[in-house]
Amino acid sequence: MTTRTAQCACGALRATCEGEPVRRSLCQCFSCQRRTGSAFSLNATWPDEQVSIEGKSRVFERSGEEGHWARSHFCPACGTTLYWRIERQPGMTYVAVGCFADPTFPVPEFAVYSERGRPWIRFETEPPLVQQ
Ligand SMILES: [Zn+2]
Ligand SMILES: [Zn+2]
Repeated sequence: MTTRTAQCACGALRATCEGEPVRRSLCQCFSCQRRTGSAFSLNATWPDEQVSIEGKSRVFERSGEEGHWARSHFCPACGTTLYWRIERQPGMTYVAVGCFADPTFPVPEFAVYSERGRPWIRFETEPPLVQQ
């Protein structure tokens, strides 16, 4: 079985994920732009029981656009958000794909909040991203 480990910038917070993610997405919402400091986020989702967390994290909770909570876990030493959970998807852990630092990580399948993206960004993936 494939096992991948994501880590924060300083390496103190790690998430080891077993098996392939059940969902891979790219999000251009404003919350992701602010969380990452970049134009979009890359996100991969596993069932909680397939993710092992090592290291301490702090939690930032925010309300989503429909009022549901989202809880981001970030490293208190370096500030990297490594993973998060959202109220609407109980039992699932989302991991920041950049934290795997793996260019061969499978391409996203879905694109969300594309209308908030930079107009000069085009994504060319095979198969094409499904807009949601
Ligand atoms: Zn860190
Ligand atoms: Zn987003």
